[in-house]
Amino acid sequence: MKFYNRLSLGTKIIAISTGLAGIFLLTTVGFLTFKTYKNLKESSIEALATSNHLEGEKIEIQLNSILIDLKSLSQSPFVSQTLGSSPITGKTGLKAVYIAEMNSNPIYDQLRLLNERGEEVVRVNNINGNAEAVEESQLQDKSNRPYFIQSKELKPGEVYISNVELNREGSPPKIEVPYKPTLRYAFPIFDDLGNFKGTIVANVLFSEVATPYHPGHEIATQNYIVDEKGFYLFNQDSQKEFGGPIDLNSGINIRNDHQDIEEAFKEDSQIFFLEESILSSEVIKYHPNRDDKYWINMELIEKDKIFGPLFKNIKRFAFLSIILFILLFFTFTFSIQKMLTPLKELSKNAEAIGRGEFNQKIDIKREDEIGRLATSLKGMSKKLKTLYKSLEKKVKEKTKALSKKVNELEKTKHAMINVANDLNIEREQVSHERDKLNTILENIGDAVFVIDKASNIIVFNKAASIISGVKQDKAIEKSYKKVLKFLDEKTNKPDPFIENVFKSKDTQEMGSNTVLVKKNGKRIPVADSAAPLKNKAGEVIGVIVVFRDVAKERAIDKAKTEFVSLASHQLRTPLTSINWYTEMLLSGDAGKLKKEQKDYLEEIYEGNQNMLNLVNSLLNVSRVDLGTFMIEPQSTDIVEMCKNVIKEMKPTLTQKKQKVSEKFQKKFPKIDVDTNLMRIVFQNYLSNAAKYTPEKGKITIGITEVKAGKEFKTKTMRMDSFVFYVSDTGYGIPEEQQDKIFSKLFRADNVRAMQAEGTGLGLYIIKSIIESSKGSVWFESKEGKGSTFYAALPMTGMIKKEGQKGLS
Ligand code: ADP
Repeated sequence: MKFYNRLSLGTKIIAISTGLAGIFLLTTVGFLTFKTYKNLKESSIEALATSNHLEGEKIEIQLNSILIDLKSLSQSPFVSQTLGSSPITGKTGLKAVYIAEMNSNPIYDQLRLLNERGEEVVRVNNINGNAEAVEESQLQDKSNRPYFIQSKELKPGEVYISNVELNREGSPPKIEVPYKPTLRYAFPIFDDLGNFKGTIVANVLFSEVATPYHPGHEIATQNYIVDEKGFYLFNQDSQKEFGGPIDLNSGINIRNDHQDIEEAFKEDSQIFFLEESILSSEVIKYHPNRDDKYWINMELIEKDKIFGPLFKNIKRFAFLSIILFILLFFTFTFSIQKMLTPLKELSKNAEAIGRGEFNQKIDIKREDEIGRLATSLKGMSKKLKTLYKSLEKKVKEKTKALSKKVNELEKTKHAMINVANDLNIEREQVSHERDKLNTILENIGDAVFVIDKASNIIVFNKAASIISGVKQDKAIEKSYKKVLKFLDEKTNKPDPFIENVFKSKDTQEMGSNTVLVKKNGKRIPVADSAAPLKNKAGEVIGVIVVFRDVAKERAIDKAKTEFVSLASHQLRTPLTSINWYTEMLLSGDAGKLKKEQKDYLEEIYEGNQNMLNLVNSLLNVSRVDLGTFMIEPQSTDIVEMCKNVIKEMKPTLTQKKQKVSEKFQKKFPKIDVDTNLMRIVFQNYLSNAAKYTPEKGKITIGITEVKAGKEFKTKTMRMDSFVFYVSDTGYGIPEEQQDKIFSKLFRADNVRAMQAEGTGLGLYIIKSIIESSKGSVWFESKEGKGSTFYAALPMTGMIKKEGQKGLS
């Protein structure tokens, strides 16, 4: 295609026109040739078939006339005379008839009469065209010859005809040379009674039978006569003439010469197409009584002889075509080149205009399309000139504007490079900060690790690695759950503080009994917390966990608690005795007391009572801390129970003129709680409200049910729960100390001065009781306004726990 595109228009037109002319010529020649070839073939086949048929007919006529001749000879009176009463006269007459017949018809080679025993009675030979009767002494006995034997078997009117054979002479018989193909006819002769009397035998020269066969039509053909098996009986080639195998054993037959005829020969076809020839076959019946005896007359013509002239003509025609073709080519080339010259001129002009040379001289004065093209090119060149000028102006203006823009861009580029430099400096600072942070994290004493949203560890510092025994590279990018196992030592359940950060979006402390279980099973007590990492939208995108090995602290704590437990236990007995004895003294069991004595004793009694309370509380705390207190839940009407506690507190409340309102949910179901522990909770919340509310204050107590997922006073319930709350209009708790309210021994500054009574242990114990049954405690308070304390427990109640002692 590329090559075609490069050719000029003229060349393309010439090529296409010449090509078309060539195709036209070739198609015409091809068509005519084919048509002529077909016609010639058909007419040749027809001519061949007709000629062959005619030849065949001629032979059949010849054979027929032989039969008629022989029949009339058999009916000659001399035959019956010869075989009957007057043989001498008969013989003479018969000889004369035979001689006359032979001379008039050179087809016969011998004519003889045999008597009923097969002995020759008369024989006339054809000697070089003259018929001569044979001497009496030379007559032979032919009784053993097939023609005699076979003729004896025939019925009247039938004839014996031999195959074509070579003539034999002498005794023993020898094939006569030169060959003489002969056909023998034998006519049996019967008397009036139908008795066999003898036989007329005629030797017919086969060459004479085939004589009418004169290939003389216009087409030079080859001709054969073959027997029914395909052996040559007559052939133009003298070598092959008479190929009968019986006599010559030559094996020369048509099937040998034309191998491919075999199949067609079997099918009795009339026309065969051989490789280079066409062959026509005609069946000749030569025996009147037997259909299986026939010859085949064959006529063959070489294709070259038919089509030779045609092909010669084609060659001539092709030669003429080429000459014509060349002439056409040059004529086309000349006229098209002439036509294209002005177009070439114009194309050169157009190219020059394209280069910007607008002052082109276009000198073509014609009226045709090319002339019009030249005129419009002139016009176009003029217009382009004008357009080009205005374009040049515009380009100049645009170039100016562009160079201005380029300058501005250059300036912007500089500014951006400066910004990029600044950014680089900043990036370095950030990376410096990050390095600093990493160094701090690595060297900090506490274990720190950070997880992403998918709980995979992204930071794991050296301390974390040391405490947990997990190498940093083994921890990074793994789920923290697979790397670190935080368990509650007492329940052996996982500490959910990290998951709780995701749920609550807030900081979560580890449980007080949390241990880190190392790969080797060793448990390390740990403490601290997990805090959420949030993005700008406030979503938790990770958690930072800080923890440290608190084995020592826990050990000390335990020792401390055990000591407190022991001391309080030891103190409780004497304090109780003091209590009793003081009570006895005060009730006058040891005699009447003076007023002063009674006042002192009452002081002692109160002081002792406070001490006993403290000791009991300390004992409770130690049991809580050691986890040794028991929980024994039983179905309880907690509203009723709460009302009883209020009743018990009545004297204190009345004394302080405090008004109590109750907000219990109606028909509240019974709950499985440890009555002792539940009472401690009620008592504590209520006594605190009374204690930390001035006279004439208001106290509200309520119990209400809250469904799972619902929020109650800032707390969302995880299970169906009930909430017990006590609200007062008291002193409240200073905001900065609110986070320590449930800690052990803590008392807020604002009440410490006012209320000497108090241990700072009550709320700590309540928290432990409630949390040990999966509940929660919290409060709301405003200093000077009042507080509300809440305790929530699942509706399923408290969880049973074995232990040595209850709380008091
Ligand atoms: P105690 O009352 O013996 O001091 P608690 O553990 O019961 O110990 O209470 C701890 C502290 O919490 C109290 O000292 C007080 O500062 C504060 N507190 C408890 N209840 C209230 C309340 N209803 N109003 C104000 N402060 C309270």
